[in-house]
Amino acid sequence: MTCCLNPACHNPPSLGDRTVFCSNCGTRLVVLRNRYRPIKSLGGGGFGKTYLAEDIDKLQEHCVIKQFAPQVQRTAALNEAKIKTA
Ligand SMILES: [Zn+2]
Repeated sequence: MTCCLNPACHNPPSLGDRTVFCSNCGTRLVVLRNRYRPIKSLGGGGFGKTYLAEDIDKLQEHCVIKQFAPQVQRTAALNEAKIKTA
């Protein structure tokens, strides 16, 4: 199972190991550092999301990936909010 890491992808599906692109948003699925495979989204807040992952180098031992939302997206969201209130 591999989970989509696109922060904008809502309810990312868990896809088969041979799947290359997310069926929900089309983002290419990645194994971080060729070692950590994201399995499923654990949710997140305003600053990022967390994912349950498996460590391929440690016999699929589970770990957690913390992803921080890119600064650029937050700035864009901030500008959007300013425009809406103007
Ligand atoms: Zn996705």
